[in-house]
Amino acid sequence: MEIEMLGKIKNAMKNAVKGDFYKNRFSGIDIDEIKSTEDFEKLPFTDKEDLRQAYPLGLQAVPDEKVVRIHSSSGTTGTPVIIPYTQKDVDDWAIMFKRCYETAELTNLDRIHITPGYGLWTAGIGFQAGGELLGAMTIPMGPGNTDKQIRMMIDMKSSVLCATSSYALLLAEEIAKRGCGDKIHLKKGIIGSERWGEKMRQRIACELGVKLYDIYGLTEIYGPGIGMSCKYECGMHVWTDYLYFEIIDPKTGKVLPEGEIGELVITTLCKEGAPLIRYRTHDLTRFIAGKCECGLDYPRIDTLIGRSDDMVKVKGTIIYPSRVEEILKAIDGVSSEYQIMIDHLHGKDILTLFFETPLEMGAEFAKLEKAVEREFKNKIGITANAKAVGMGELPRSEKKSTRVFDNRY
Ligand code: ZN
Repeated sequence: MEIEMLGKIKNAMKNAVKGDFYKNRFSGIDIDEIKSTEDFEKLPFTDKEDLRQAYPLGLQAVPDEKVVRIHSSSGTTGTPVIIPYTQKDVDDWAIMFKRCYETAELTNLDRIHITPGYGLWTAGIGFQAGGELLGAMTIPMGPGNTDKQIRMMIDMKSSVLCATSSYALLLAEEIAKRGCGDKIHLKKGIIGSERWGEKMRQRIACELGVKLYDIYGLTEIYGPGIGMSCKYECGMHVWTDYLYFEIIDPKTGKVLPEGEIGELVITTLCKEGAPLIRYRTHDLTRFIAGKCECGLDYPRIDTLIGRSDDMVKVKGTIIYPSRVEEILKAIDGVSSEYQIMIDHLHGKDILTLFFETPLEMGAEFAKLEKAVEREFKNKIGITANAKAVGMGELPRSEKKSTRVFDNRY
């Protein structure tokens, strides 16, 4: 880390401890004694659960009169997280969002059709504020009402669609169904970053006839708009003048060397309302080395690979279910049901990949197993023992996430 960045981080920490949350968290830590990257990397992480415990306004680090807005992340899994914003926070977010649009080469002549929701959620209003700052025509649709969406898209000559991947696909299919594709003026799609397969991407791009861009962000850190892919589609540029990014091993918490896949951890450098230091996103990605062809100086992270909660490490290689799913999907005769079993035998990790197939047992099984093993080795880099079983033979679980059984510990 450069000295300048360390200075910015220490400033951010000094602002953060003005609020109760970090005053407690960093009690006993002398910020002026942080003199190196190593010192910084010893600081505790902040996790979503910590933010929940600060509900409702425990994160607030400024006096009440400075707070102009709150946002909240969804509370479907428990107590919601409330993030207070100052005017500067709102302005900074719009500046970053405008930069996202510029990275996708939008101009003030674009007409931005915004389908993410408005309200406590950070999505819609972020797309809106960035578009207005750019000087483009924003069309604040929000989600739902497909008829109206398509009508406005045609009549307003929307040139950019902002949506989640699933909603973009739904609109694409509805447009195809109605045969009104020739009346649509869309040129670009800006898709909120989540893990979405290449197949889905191609379908949306093809059906709508648009070039797709990924936008990254999370409510805890402003919202969408803190990272954006450019036309070269090689990861997402991230705005390091506002944020400091680390990639850590989610198991040990150690910072990983550049290029290795791990969990993204973010520190806000300028945020006033609710500064966050070493916030664990649980998103898996990696830094992409080198300079991008587009000429932007901002570093890049890879398209999201999955969630750290889902991954396992075998023989030093990180394996995430999403990748295994993709590999199996591409092989004919293999169903989407699979299970990964990891054992430790005779001093070695053994990975067994069970998958279901509709084919008859016999020679076909052996052939399929070889094909799966070959693809696994090619794509993931380690050896797996593939075992084909008949349809319905793998136990079904209520929780779909139990794909991986780690018997090593
Ligand atoms: Zn670029």
